[in-house]
Order: sequence, then C-alpha cells, then structure tokens
Amino acid sequence: MGPGPISADPRVLRAMSAALVGQYDPAMTGYMNEVMELYRGVFKTQNEQTLLIDGTSRAGIEAALVSLVEPGQKVLVPIFGRFGYLLKEIAGRIGADVVVREKEWGQVFTPAEIESAIREEKPHLLALVQGDTSTTMNQPLEEIGALCAAHGVLFYTDATASLGGNDFRADEWGIDAATAGLQKCLGGPSGSAPITLSDQAVDVIRSRRHVEEGIDDGSTGQGVRIASNYFDLSQILDYWGPARLNHHTEATSMLYGARECARLLLAEGMDNAVARHALHGRAMAEGLKGLGLTLFGDTAHKMNNVVAVHIPDGINGDAARAAMLNDYGIEIGTSFGPLHGKVWRIGTMGYNARKDAVMLTLAALEQVLRTGGVTVPASGGVQAALEVYGA
Ligand SMILES: *Cc1c(COP(=O)(O)O)cnc(C)c1O
Repeated sequence: MGPGPISADPRVLRAMSAALVGQYDPAMTGYMNEVMELYRGVFKTQNEQTLLIDGTSRAGIEAALVSLVEPGQKVLVPIFGRFGYLLKEIAGRIGADVVVREKEWGQVFTPAEIESAIREEKPHLLALVQGDTSTTMNQPLEEIGALCAAHGVLFYTDATASLGGNDFRADEWGIDAATAGLQKCLGGPSGSAPITLSDQAVDVIRSRRHVEEGIDDGSTGQGVRIASNYFDLSQILDYWGPARLNHHTEATSMLYGARECARLLLAEGMDNAVARHALHGRAMAEGLKGLGLTLFGDTAHKMNNVVAVHIPDGINGDAARAAMLNDYGIEIGTSFGPLHGKVWRIGTMGYNARKDAVMLTLAALEQVLRTGGVTVPASGGVQAALEVYGA
C-alpha cells in the first residue's frame, strides 16, 4: 500500500507468462497494433503515435525529452516535487537550456503562474508532472495545453503516477506528449512506459530523423540528430509503424503485461477506474483522519490514489513501517527530501484500490499506533472508512 510500485493485478502477471514470440511474428505485429489502440483509450486520444517504450517510466520521459528537445533549446519545468527535479535533470543532460519555477511541497501551480512563466521564458517546451507521488499533489492540466498552444510551446507531461486513477484527457487538454508507467494506477509491474504523441510532436521528431541503416526511405531530417539510439523516437515510430524498422528486440512479456493493464482498465471504463480510485482514496484519507492523524498538503489538489499523512509525535516512522510489514505484510511508504521522516505515503492504486485493502491497512495501522503509545479516537479509522463506503 505504498506510493508505487504496487502489487500487480494477478491477471496481468498471468498474461505475462504467455509463450514468447519475436517482433516480426504476425501475431506480435497484431498485438503491437492492438496495444496502440488500447492506449489511445487509456490516454483519451486519437493520436496515431501511441505506443510503448521498453523500460521503466523514466525511459518514456527520456525518449520524449531527448527526441523533442535539441541541445540549446529552452525547456521550462515548473517543479512541485521530486519528479519535477527529475525532468529538470533529464532535460539538462540532453543539453537543453533549462529554466524552472518552484512551489513549496504540498502545493500546485495556478494556470496564471504557468502562463506568466511562459511569457517570461518563451520556452520551446513546457515539461510538467501531472501527479507527483513525492508530495501526492495532482497538478491541474486542463488549461495548460491552450496556454502552450497560444504561445507556440510544446507541452509534455509525466502522468506516470496519475494516469488511470485521475482524470486525464490528452486531446481535450492539448497535450503534445505524455508518458506513463505500469506500476501505479495501471496495475502492472514496472518495465514498460506507454507514450502518446500529438501530430505536432511527431513533426518535430520526424524532422530529426537520421537513419543510416535498416529500412530507410533515405530521408534525413533538417533538425539535430537525436543523441540516443535506444530512445530515438524517430526510429521507434518506424519500428511500431508499417515500416517495421529493425530497431530493438521487443520486450515481449512486458508488452503482454501492458496490453492486459490497458485491456482491464478499458473493460472497467476509464471514468469508472478514476471513480474507483477516488472512492478508495477518500476512504483511506477519512480513515486516517479517524485515527486522529493529520493529512499533508493542499488536500483539495491531492491525487486520488495516494495520501501523505503526518507521522504522529512519539512514533518512529520507520519502526512503524517495519511493524506494518513484519506483523501484517503491508507496505506503506516513507518520503523524500523535505518530507523525509515527517510523513508516510499510503497508496490506494491499481489493484490495491480495493475496500478490503483499505480496511486491513487502517486496522493494522491502528494497532501499530496503539502499540506505539498513540491515543487513537475510540471510533477509529475503520469506522470512518466504513462511513465513506456508506455502511
Ligand atoms: C513513480 C514515478 C516515476 C517512476 O519512474 P520509474 O522509472 O518507473 O522508476 C516517474 N514519474 C513520476 C511522476 C512518478 O510518480
């Protein structure tokens, strides 16, 4: 019950144990096309170029940034938690001229703040995390795409922590590039990074295409050649497209897992999945309050799938986490940076966004707190959660 990775859905693990085929097997090219269509549903997009990057979530981030940003181009990163610093670091490594704006942890940016930063900096690309698990905050994105379009700025977002558990609309919100990972609300293991790219993003990428071998139409782009082979989206698009460029050996088991994650989510319905995360996230948050604990941050902008809660006085946070794990087999999260030692982060995401998981976690935590000498209100956390469930 941490902030990710989470327990994978058993159906996803089962799908991953299917027999392997290589990427040129007709069955596999069929699966690849199917995965593209499934993830269009997950991202709520018509983008043709919607596919998987093999690697953990940051493989998707690196592929997007190294392919969309040339050295020297300006990237604006509004930072409200640890993963904003990751975007800054990756953009810096690829030679971008990186400028940032920072928010106190536990808060999000207003659209007006982002617009004024865009006006001041005139970046080539805005890189913005949607849900940052380090603070549990969910940055509203609805208005950002229109601001970027009005100023001729490409808009990239890291939706790893939020996709599937919080509203996300790539097309409606004008997002040019978004990436994710399986190990949060998508309910799978880490190791595959879904990505979607707008036509405008694809134009930028194709302008940087410099393929010297393989199935090549001979075209060489005008833009600066992408400084990574593995993350060269101009080649990866052709690998996933009809050209079937021989780029890398498909991570077949991961593709099976990613396909099952999306299939299950779409069978449930994306809006239903978001509502499920909202319900169990609310039950967890109310349950923690019922234990007499205080939630961290601007809870009006909290992600549905994770909550940060202040560690009560007199309790050693790591010892309590160890007791949760050793006595009850339940993992809850520690925290980073300015929040280290101050808050626990408890997830209700993917396969763990379930009533029984919420109730067991609250009951176990109550026992750990009592053993640690904390006075817990008589009504307790389980009762507070039950009220959310309408019992
Ligand atoms: C969890 C998380 C990641 C994880 O990246 P990995 O490469 O899969 O470890 C990236 N971005 C955000 C916003 C996250 O919450």
